[in-house]
Amino acid sequence: MKKRLTIAIDGPAGAGKSSAAKGLSEQLAYLYLDTGALYRAMAWKILEGKIDPSEVSKVDLLCQCIEIKLALSETHISVWVDGKDVSSLIRSPEVTATSSLISSYPDVREKLLSVQQAFGREGGVVAEGRDIGTVVFPNADLKFFLDADISVRGERRQKDLLSQGIEVDQSKTTDDLEVRDRKDSRRPLSPLKKAEDAISIDSTNLKPQEVIDLMLNEVAILQSSRPS
Ligand code: C5P
Repeated sequence: MKKRLTIAIDGPAGAGKSSAAKGLSEQLAYLYLDTGALYRAMAWKILEGKIDPSEVSKVDLLCQCIEIKLALSETHISVWVDGKDVSSLIRSPEVTATSSLISSYPDVREKLLSVQQAFGREGGVVAEGRDIGTVVFPNADLKFFLDADISVRGERRQKDLLSQGIEVDQSKTTDDLEVRDRKDSRRPLSPLKKAEDAISIDSTNLKPQEVIDLMLNEVAILQSSRPS
């Protein structure tokens, strides 16, 4: 039996992390952990409760009483907040902007860190986000840092939003991505950065399956170098 690995994928928004993590987890029959969904779920609750997200003390209070859970079904993982499945409610531009803001708050990160680590404890998981290889799973078996040119990332994000019926302007989408990346990279706590031992992949000119194939190749190299 091959060891069930913990695989970390980090990178900026629109770099192709979700497609890569989804595809890789399917091919390996591993779990797929979308850590951004947890920050989005917290943001959704803040907006729903009409809490001002810039008031750190109010968000801290919410962290003490909110229950955020990941539920595993045969086909997918859903995100639950206080007993409600919010998976389909967390992709709006408002939730995106709020999740970006609150992700710099220490209490938010601490709360969500334990959910992520509990989920990945047994291995057999592909987790994607911003601090997976550096903070969430620093001992992951394999780490990737996925990036792409900003114009390509903007185009991908716009297609994504359009496919969900959300109309947005291309240049505004690209600007929003840049702002979000800057915030994620510059925050003092768990900033977006490449782990020293992560393998870099530039997906600018690659199709999603080509990214997955590169990753699968690294998995195969690792598995063959380790005794089973
Ligand atoms: O990946 P996604 O775009 O869904 O993430 C939403 C926001 O959550 C990001 O802009 C980032 O601020 C935050 N995030 C984070 N750390 C992670 C995953 C997401 O700070 N591991």
